[in-house]
Order: sequence, then C-alpha cells, then structure tokens
Amino acid sequence: MQIDTNAIRRAIDLREAARFYGFDVNRAGFCCCPFHDEKTASCHIWPDHFYCFGCGAGGDAIAFVKRLFDLSFPAAVAKLNNDFQLGLPIDRPQTAREALAAQRAERERKRQQERREEAQRTYFNALDEYTRLDKLIIDAGDNLTDEAAEAMKRLPAASYRLTAAEMEVRQLDG
Ligand SMILES: [Zn+2]
Repeated sequence: MQIDTNAIRRAIDLREAARFYGFDVNRAGFCCCPFHDEKTASCHIWPDHFYCFGCGAGGDAIAFVKRLFDLSFPAAVAKLNNDFQLGLPIDRPQTAREALAAQRAERERKRQQERREEAQRTYFNALDEYTRLDKLIIDAGDNLTDEAAEAMKRLPAASYRLTAAEMEVRQLDG
C-alpha cells in the first residue's frame, strides 16, 4: 500500500487534532504530555509537529497518533484519514502528479523547518546580546564606565533586533 503521508501532514493541524483527542492545548501551544507523567504542560504542539521538553518525545501528526494509540504506521495514517474525514486515497498508488506534488510539499516543509530553526538561532543570539548589554549597564550602576556607556548606546538597536527576532519566531510558529 502506497501512502501519500505528506497529504496527511498537509491536511492535519496537529493543534486541532490534539484538542480533538481530548488534550487541553493552551494558547501558547502547550499541553500536558501524553507520553510521560506530568502536571505542568511541557509538550509544545505546533500545527505540523510536537515536541515534549520533558521527555523528548516529538514528531509529526502521524507519529503523535501512532504513539498515542499504539498503532502501526499505516493504522495511524488510516485513523487520521477517518477521524478527520480527509478522504485521502490511501489505498491506491499515487499518480505521478500526486507524487510530484508530495515531493514539492516535502521540500517546502523542510524549507519552513530550516527557516524556523534559523529564526530561533537568531532570536537566542539577539537575546544573549541584549542580556549581556543590559547586565553591563546594571552592573556599572552610577559608575558609568566606557564599556557601560558603549552598552547604553547599543542597547536600543539590540532591543529592536530582539523584538524583530521574537516576532519572526512567533510568525513562523503559526
Ligand atoms: Zn513528555
């Protein structure tokens, strides 16, 4: 059986799916992890994947359902197809056109993933820089050293970069 799994990944919003299966996903995208015992929500659900900061579980919608219901890969795909009435032709071979579209979608998904990782790196660098400058200024107190004066000059730009990086991360996270 040839399965167009990318069609499933495209069609499913994992946050909606998690809610559908009874998980209380908060506005920040976190819920209590289904895969380890916890009281505080440390499992982050994005529209296209999840990652638990507590136990390291992660993956796409298919991996989520596979593990949640202890299913085989094809059974997890079939369950998503049924539960969300995707009506995907998962029991016949892909046509060449579908295969091409799936490849394209997969490339696009990878590109998005890379953009997201790059944005996160930029954010953490900006946060480091801002924190460093801020600390220099605070540590200097009334005794304004050259270093602290320089940090003050650079702080507004660092703050701007941090805000911009944060917005970029949020936007890509959806
Ligand atoms: Zn977990």
